[in-house]
Amino acid sequence: MKNNLFYLIISLISLHALISCQQNLDADLLIRNVQIIDVLNGSVLNNQDLLIKSGQILLIQQHGKNNFTASTIVDGTNKYLIPGLFDCHVHTTNYQEDFPRFMHYGITGVFITGGSVCTDAYYEQMRKAGQEDTIYAPRVFHTSQHFTMEGRHPVKTYGGNNWQEGKTVFFLHDTMEIKSLVAKVAQQPILGIKVTIEDGPHPPLVERMPLEFIHKVVTEAHANQLEVFAHVSDNIELEMAVEAGVRNLVHFTGVDIDFRKDTAILSKIYAGHFDWVTTLMLDKSFLYPNNPEWIEPVKASNIYSQEMIDKMNDPGYLFRAEDYISFMKEYLKLDTISLRDVIEFQVHDIMELASHGVNFVLGTDTGNDFIFPGYSLHEEMQLLEMGGMSPVDILKMATINAAVMMHADDHLGSISVGKTADMILLSKNPLEQIENTLSIERVFKGGNSF
Ligand SMILES: [Zn+2]
Repeated sequence: MKNNLFYLIISLISLHALISCQQNLDADLLIRNVQIIDVLNGSVLNNQDLLIKSGQILLIQQHGKNNFTASTIVDGTNKYLIPGLFDCHVHTTNYQEDFPRFMHYGITGVFITGGSVCTDAYYEQMRKAGQEDTIYAPRVFHTSQHFTMEGRHPVKTYGGNNWQEGKTVFFLHDTMEIKSLVAKVAQQPILGIKVTIEDGPHPPLVERMPLEFIHKVVTEAHANQLEVFAHVSDNIELEMAVEAGVRNLVHFTGVDIDFRKDTAILSKIYAGHFDWVTTLMLDKSFLYPNNPEWIEPVKASNIYSQEMIDKMNDPGYLFRAEDYISFMKEYLKLDTISLRDVIEFQVHDIMELASHGVNFVLGTDTGNDFIFPGYSLHEEMQLLEMGGMSPVDILKMATINAAVMMHADDHLGSISVGKTADMILLSKNPLEQIENTLSIERVFKGGNSF
C-alpha cells in the first residue's frame, strides 16, 4: 500500500511536470532543434528551439527544455540557420524581375546605390515592394541619385543608359549649389549621398570630380545627418575621398594598399570608422566569358533571362576579358592570370584593414554584365573564401556588418531575441565551406516562409 501510494505521487508529479512544460506562447512559427549560426559571437549554437511571433524572434532556447507549440512547426534537425543576407551594392532597372531573384537566394536586404532609372518615384516603388511584399522582395535601403559632373562617370562612360539629369543623376556645376541640392535629396529616406569620383573604368578616361566639390558634398551631407557613399576605383580616388572626409566606400576593387608605404592614409582610415563594400564580383565578371563552366549553375537555376546568359557568346565580352587579362598580367607581373591571382591580393588587403576596425560588407555591383542578382552574392562570398577569409568572417560581412552600415543592426543582421526574423534555413553547415550557403531549404522574411 505504501509503495502504491509512493508510485501514485511520483506519477502525479511527473504528469504535472509534463503539463507545465507544454508551453504555448501563441507563437506563429517554431523551428525545432536547429543549429544557429551566431554572427555576433562567431559561434554555432547547437540544438536550439526558436520561436517567432508577429515577425520577431520571441525566444531561443536549448531544444527539449520546454515542449513548445506554434501554428507552424519546422524541423531543424541537422540543419543550419543563418541571418538573411545583404547585397550592399545593387543597381536594377527592373526590380519586379530582380527582387524575386534576390529572395530566392536568401538576400533579404539590398542597398541600392543609384542607377539610370532611379527617380524618387522608382525608389519609392522599390521601398514599398520591400515593405509590403507586393512582390517577393528584399528590404530596400538606398542612397541618393548619383552626384557627378557633366561629361563624367557614369553618364559619359556608360553610354546607352537613359540617365535623366535632375531626376536620376545630378550634375554639379559649382560648389555653391551643393548646399541646396543636398537639402533637397535629404527630404527622401536615403542613407546618404552617392558621389562618383571615378575617371572611368576604361580609356578614354574622364576628369575626376575636384576635391573641393567632394569636400562640400561631405560638409552638407553631415549637416543633414547623412553619410556620403563614394565610388572610388583606385588609390588616387581613395585618397581624395578620405581627404574630403568620406567614411563610406562602395567599391574595394581597384584599390591596392601597400601596408608599409601607405601609412598616412592608413592612419586616417583606421581612425575613421569606415564602412567599405567589397564588389570583387566585378573582377570575376570580366573573366566570365573565358570560363564557360561558371555559367552552368546560373543556367540550371532557370531564373535568369536567356539574354543574360547569351552574353557569354558575345565577342565583345571576350575582347573585354582579354583586355582585362593583359592589364592584370602587367599589373601583377605574371605570365598567366587565374581568378585566384586577381582575388588573393585584394582579400589579403581586406583582411588586414578589417583587423584594424574597417567595417567591411559584401556587395556585388549587380546590374553589371555577368553579375547575377542573388546568385552572385554567393559567388562574392566564395571569392573571399578563395582569398583566405574564414566562412564565419564572411558571414559577418554579409549580415551584421551590413546591418551596421544600414543603421539597422537594432533589428536586423543576426538571429537574436527581439530582432526581425529574416533568416535562411540551410541543409549544410556554412562554416565548413561557404559554398554551403547555397544549400537553401527555406528563406524567412519577417517570419514568413518563402
Ligand atoms: Zn555600382
